[in-house]
Amino acid sequence: MLIIAHGGAGAKRPTKKALKKLEESLQAGFKILKDGGSALKAVVEAIDILEDSGLFNAGSGGNLQLDGKRRLDASLMEGRTLKAGAVIGLQGFRNPIRAAEVIMDSPHRILTNEGARVIARAHGLKRLPPPDHADLERLRRKIKKGAALDAYKKYFSTVGAVALDKGGNVAAGSSTGGVSTMLPGRVGDTPIIGAGVYADLNTAVSCTGKGEEIIRVALAKEVSMNMKRKGPEAAGEESLKKVLGLGGDAGLIALDSAGRFTIAHTTGAMASGYAREGGIIVRQGFRVIK
Ligand code: ASP
Repeated sequence: MLIIAHGGAGAKRPTKKALKKLEESLQAGFKILKDGGSALKAVVEAIDILEDSGLFNAGSGGNLQLDGKRRLDASLMEGRTLKAGAVIGLQGFRNPIRAAEVIMDSPHRILTNEGARVIARAHGLKRLPPPDHADLERLRRKIKKGAALDAYKKYFSTVGAVALDKGGNVAAGSSTGGVSTMLPGRVGDTPIIGAGVYADLNTAVSCTGKGEEIIRVALAKEVSMNMKRKGPEAAGEESLKKVLGLGGDAGLIALDSAGRFTIAHTTGAMASGYAREGGIIVRQGFRVIK
């Protein structure tokens, strides 16, 4: 049993509060695994806690798009069944990962905008009030300062998790508010199966970073494929170098069904950690790939 979670690759050092929350989410996810729950349930629970916290660029802390709207994306995949679900541009609800979980068992794989809202409403997901005056003021200041493009390159704090359960099944999930500055309707890697997340019989991968380049590499699937030939560390490193080669930055967490794993990022930091029988480790970052 193993669960790994991250709070986004980035240039900024994560706060103590964020690391504490990450630990709490790992604890909750690991408890599910210990009690015999599935990797999928553990991943959803861990991400749900991070979305609720408002401390990350996901759920109630998600970035605003340039029209002042908070449109949330998430995706989820289970290894053994290859079941997958994703949601794009969800507004007015706090936990897009729960919406992705519902979609996974629907006839569809991805729902956007109004379709996503209908599903969230029908399943009684928790509401998220529209951005308040302070949120909009912050956005206005950011645009005015022109700091936008720089921040776009450096700061990500999407959340994600991967897990391996008692039965040897794996799962991966990710949830985001996008990047720090984006046109309305922009979609990154997070809700794209194969880019932001991927899971199959033996591997589970969840990514963070600049979605535009992650999509071009199909990073999660790329790492999963590389893991057929080499261990997680080497596989992760090789794939992250491809993102660097395109001028992007990224981070990832990946594990295999034997319990081997990697936590790696091209940025200076990536709040992340793991929980297994031996205990929980949470850090500001793990392996930096250059
Ligand atoms: N990957 C996310 C996106 O491009 C951003 C992040 O990782 O924080 O939407």
